[in-house]
Amino acid sequence: MIQEQRMTHHLMDIIRIDSPSRKEKDVALKLEGEMRDLGADCFYDDAGDKVGGDVGNLIVKIPGTKKDVPPFFLCSHMDTVSPGEGIKPSVKDGVMRSDGTTILGSDDKSGVSIIVEVLRALKENDIPCGDIEVAFTICEEVGLLGAKFLDASNFKSSYGIVLDSSTPQRLVLRCPCSDIMDVKIHGVEAHSGLCPENGISAVEVLSDAVSRMKLGRIDHETTANIGKVKGGSATNIVPGLVEISAEARSHDEEKLDAQIQHMRDCFLEAAKSRELLLDGERLGARAEIDIKRVYPVMNVSPEATVTNLVLKAAANLDHDIKLHTSGGGCDANFINEKGIECVNLGTGMYELHTVNEYLLLDEFHRSAQIVLETIKLHSEKN
Ligand SMILES: [Zn+2]
Repeated sequence: MIQEQRMTHHLMDIIRIDSPSRKEKDVALKLEGEMRDLGADCFYDDAGDKVGGDVGNLIVKIPGTKKDVPPFFLCSHMDTVSPGEGIKPSVKDGVMRSDGTTILGSDDKSGVSIIVEVLRALKENDIPCGDIEVAFTICEEVGLLGAKFLDASNFKSSYGIVLDSSTPQRLVLRCPCSDIMDVKIHGVEAHSGLCPENGISAVEVLSDAVSRMKLGRIDHETTANIGKVKGGSATNIVPGLVEISAEARSHDEEKLDAQIQHMRDCFLEAAKSRELLLDGERLGARAEIDIKRVYPVMNVSPEATVTNLVLKAAANLDHDIKLHTSGGGCDANFINEKGIECVNLGTGMYELHTVNEYLLLDEFHRSAQIVLETIKLHSEKN
C-alpha cells in the first residue's frame, strides 16, 4: 500500500525547498496544499511569532472514516541544519545523498515524507481509522522550539509517533533532559608586569573551578561538558572577565539537578576563595551564573500502549526492532511532557548534521510501512 517511488520523489521534492530553522514557510505551504488535497483541516499555530520565524507549526487534522476510534498523532520537523541551502539530492544503489557540499536534509524531511505517504495510503485504500492529527514542527534544530511552543490543546490524541531518529530497527523511548549554564567570572584587572598582585585572574578562578568539577560521563545516565570559553583582553593584563557556556544532560531529572548544582557550587566556591586587599578595600572574584532548562526528559514505558502497537506492527511485518535510549533530545521530549505519549521511530537516516548525511531507501520505506501498520492496529483495537 505504501508507494515507494512516490514517497522517494516526494522527499526529493521537499529536500529541494530550502527550510533552515525560522524559514520553513515555503515547505510548510507545499505540505499544506498536499494536506488540503487529502481533505485535511490545516492551520498554523503562533510558535513562529514566539521564535521569530516566518511560519508557525503546521497543524493538520485528517478526518477519520471510523467513528469511535480515538485520534492518532504523528510529528516530524520541517527545518534543517546548515549547510542546507540549494541541496541537490540524488539516488544511487538504494541510497540518497546530497552532492557533498550540503547536508541532505533527510533529517527530518524523511519523517515528513513518511507521514505524507502514510496519509495518502490510508485514503487511497479506504483503510478504516480514526482522525489523524499531525504536527509538522519548526525550529527543532535550534532547541526543539517548535515543539516547545506547540499548543497541546489543539490535539485530542493521547499517543502517537515522532519520526526523527536514525534507523527503524530502533524505537527510541528515552531521551535525556538538558540544562545550559552560562557563567561570567569577574576578576580584577591589573597590569601583569607592574602590579599583578593588584589583580585577580578570572582565568585562574576558572581553572580552580574546573579542577574541582566532575565533567564528561558522570554516570550511565548523565553527562556534562564545558563547551565554550572566552575571555581576557591582552597578554599584559590580568584577565578581569571570562565567559563560559556549559551543559549537562541526564535521563534522570534529579541527577541533572544534582550535576548542575555541583557545577554551580564549583564556580561559586572558586570565586569566593579569591580576594585581595587593595588600599584598605576588600576586592573579590564573582561568578554570575544563568541556568536554563533546554528540554524536559522523555521516558516512555516499554509497556506503554503506543510502544506495544509499534512492536506488534513491526512483528506483523517481520521487521526486527529494538527499544533504544538516545543521548540527545527530540520534539518528543516536549510532546510527551505536554501529555501526548510519543515514541520516536527511525526513518533510515545516517551521519546527520554532516555533508555525508545519507538515507537508506529500504529503511525509509520500511518505516512508512510500520507507521501504517501501527495505525491499522490502533484502529482495530478500538
Ligand atoms: Zn531531526
